[in-house]
Amino acid sequence: MSGRSTPPAPSVIAHWIGGEPAEAADGRVLDVTDPASNRVYTQVARGGPADVARAVDAAGAAFPAWAAASPQERARVLHRVADAVEERRERLAAAESYDSGLPIGQARGQAHRAAENFRHFAGVITTLGEDACRQGGAGAEQLSYVVRVPAGVAGLITPWNTPFMLQSWKLAPALAAGCPVVLKPAEWTPLSASLWPEILTAAGVPAGVVNIVHGTGPEAGQALADHPGVPLISFTGSTATGRRVLRSCADHFKAASMELGGKSPVVVFADADVEAALDAVVFGVFSLNGERCTAGSRLLVERPLYGEFVRRLTDRAARVRVGPPSDAATEVGPLVHADHYRRVLEYVRSGREEARLVAGGERPVHLPEGNYLRPTVFTDVPREARVFQEEIFGPVLTVTAFDGEDEAVDLANATRYGLAAYVWTSGLRRGHRLAHAIDSGMVWINSHNVRDLRSPFGGTKASGVGREGGARGIDFHTEAKTVHVAVGDARPPRFGGTP
Ligand code: NAD
Repeated sequence: MSGRSTPPAPSVIAHWIGGEPAEAADGRVLDVTDPASNRVYTQVARGGPADVARAVDAAGAAFPAWAAASPQERARVLHRVADAVEERRERLAAAESYDSGLPIGQARGQAHRAAENFRHFAGVITTLGEDACRQGGAGAEQLSYVVRVPAGVAGLITPWNTPFMLQSWKLAPALAAGCPVVLKPAEWTPLSASLWPEILTAAGVPAGVVNIVHGTGPEAGQALADHPGVPLISFTGSTATGRRVLRSCADHFKAASMELGGKSPVVVFADADVEAALDAVVFGVFSLNGERCTAGSRLLVERPLYGEFVRRLTDRAARVRVGPPSDAATEVGPLVHADHYRRVLEYVRSGREEARLVAGGERPVHLPEGNYLRPTVFTDVPREARVFQEEIFGPVLTVTAFDGEDEAVDLANATRYGLAAYVWTSGLRRGHRLAHAIDSGMVWINSHNVRDLRSPFGGTKASGVGREGGARGIDFHTEAKTVHVAVGDARPPRFGGTP
């Protein structure tokens, strides 16, 4: 039994277009289930091309005024959005936890982070300068200056893991840069997004600046990627979908930011602070139910430490508290959806054939229904194994031994992904060497899950294209226009003859 009460949810979660709730043009809906019981508890509008077209029109109508607002005016609105999010933190956390299975304590943290994202980009847009350069001598110069022009309506497509926080991470830079948006949330977790209209209204965001179209990826998401009135797409989701969306962007010459999957290695050397590394490994792969793009899901341990580390890790994994997401003591809740649960169980099945299961691998006996899985650890995992190569996106860790730095780097780089990596060693030089040798967008040395919002976020290889965070988010949402102007007696090139 889930033992939970349903948080307030509308009977049908509507789109939000031009500052008004809207049904799907053809009236269709999708069922929304609760991951602790897999029972349908509400429905969501099932949008398609007609709904996307209406939303793009509404965003287009809001574009001139929003783009013309000064950075300071937009920043004030963003701060008010942050306030409105904070005021609703408990409700947001309860909705997110119920809908996605995120343990309530972790959901509160994500709601706080969502507010921080708006404050961060309010700061970025009011402190960012623009470029200028001069050429030629005094009195005969040419000055070139750059203005950043909002690019137009931004299409934002978001996944079901920590959905509200990831939506805030996309909404904030777009709005700060002067772009109205059409947001397409993931269809499995629309509940927290249903609070945006109230938040945006309370913050005084003008009608049409944020539009939300719900629905499936192939219908609503694809229509957004294909819409000619949307010059840029910011996508977070799986590598397979990212590839499809990127193709659509190419057809329409859209700018694309792609934050995709990961299979991030955690490299632990024998000289590491073992306690700290153990804490980090357990939290890094099992928090957020293992449904975290930067999860350290591939542990590589130097052979002299391997036996001891695996023993202690197995013990720790068995003590992680799996339970209903609303329980404050829960550390791992149910996976988001029955389809995803089946997918993760299929990986567990193949892992049993490819490696040695030392923890988890099954549902906890005290939780007979819902998408629960005990934290799962496979050891002696060869690099060819599916569970080593593919993103599982659940509470599943693989462990592999290595001998020396070269093999550590080789194994760390042995998948198609390159989002994050973690290195544990007391040798600082070695830490830096590894950080440079591992092919990934981000590397943590003796640290994990702490990120300055100003730093670039994103991956290499199949983990994505582009970087988010700080000024990069503003760059992505604006076109740089350079103005060249003659100063003083500067004379541009000309044909000879008449002076
Ligand atoms: P997904 O790719 O299935 O869906 C993501 C979004 O894309 C959803 O809104 C979905 O409806 C939409 N979509 C699906 N098909 C589409 C299409 N043809 N056109 C347009 N949109 C379409 O991903 P998911 O299962 O929701 O999320 C989990 C994945 O997201 C994992 O792979 C995870 O690593 C990744 N992720 C990456 C980051 C990052 O920053 N790199 C962050 C979080 C999650």
